Amino acid sequence: MASQLIREWTGIQQFPAATQTRMLELLGKLEQEDVSTLTILVMGKGGVGKSSTVNSIVGERAVAISAFQMEGSRPVMVSRSLAGFTLNIIDTPGIVEGGCVNDQALDIIKRFLLNKTIDVLLYVDRLDVYRVDNLDRQVVKAIADSFGKEIWSRGLIVLTHAQLSPPDGLSYDDFFSRRSEALLKVVRLGARIKKQDMQGSSIPVVLVENSGRCNKNESNEKILPNGTAWIPSLVKTITDVVSNGGKGILVDKKLIEGPNPNERGKLLIPFIFAFQYFFVVKRIQRCIKDDVANESKAVWE
Ligand code: GDP
Ligand code: MG
Repeated sequence: MASQLIREWTGIQQFPAATQTRMLELLGKLEQEDVSTLTILVMGKGGVGKSSTVNSIVGERAVAISAFQMEGSRPVMVSRSLAGFTLNIIDTPGIVEGGCVNDQALDIIKRFLLNKTIDVLLYVDRLDVYRVDNLDRQVVKAIADSFGKEIWSRGLIVLTHAQLSPPDGLSYDDFFSRRSEALLKVVRLGARIKKQDMQGSSIPVVLVENSGRCNKNESNEKILPNGTAWIPSLVKTITDVVSNGGKGILVDKKLIEGPNPNERGKLLIPFIFAFQYFFVVKRIQRCIKDDVANESKAVWE
């Protein structure tokens, strides 16, 4: 398939020298940990900046961007290789249509991912949005229901449009932390992640500014309002998720065609009932019967 052709990662040369050095360092560290392929799945609602973020990471216009949400309906995998290292980034169409999750779009994504292992999930949304709602929760739930909630242990939240001035009275950091907290809460609720499951490690939230008007530092790197060069910072967070996480999520036939991976346990319920009936209830009944039969007659009888 054309979309799966692995090309030399020439886009990396488009980055300023400082970014390139940092990226090579980070990828080199992964290779030391025996990670030679990195597959990143990018998901989220339409128009939030998924495709733009993919292009920003590879440093070239690899996928189409649309201002008017006329996204392609198919996922695209961009594969780039560099000195034995392969980076795969899977851009997906938004999974929301008419105010709810479009199961068909989700199904197409799942089938596209068959036999691939997802190392990292980038859940993309905008920073400059002031509220989260039930739809966000549905999207998070749909991702968890499709790939198992473990995928969130490999997840990070990416907030685009990060070059903003917060509304009056709020500092940038306050605005960022409020928006992150609201989204993290939605992720916890939507994916039904219990606080104790997080084991102290929260899902990282990373800021991104894809616009060509993004401010730059003296090394010509795109920076956030707080001065951070965001491309190396995003890649660093991605490599941290890989280094700290367990195994990647293999999307096999069972995951795609089987029951909702989060509700697999429910299938066992009839077997548990049957087991209880035959091995517990029956046995007790037999014991009682034997007991009654063996009981010597009481004096009063
Ligand atoms: P997708 O539907 O999630 O893939 O979103 P796109 O990447 O196609 O972006 C939708 C629109 O938002 C396009 O007009 C992009 O130029 C714009 N856009 C995406 N990311 C950013 C960002 O970080 N800042 C700004 N200012 N615009 C962005
Ligand atoms: Mg897109």
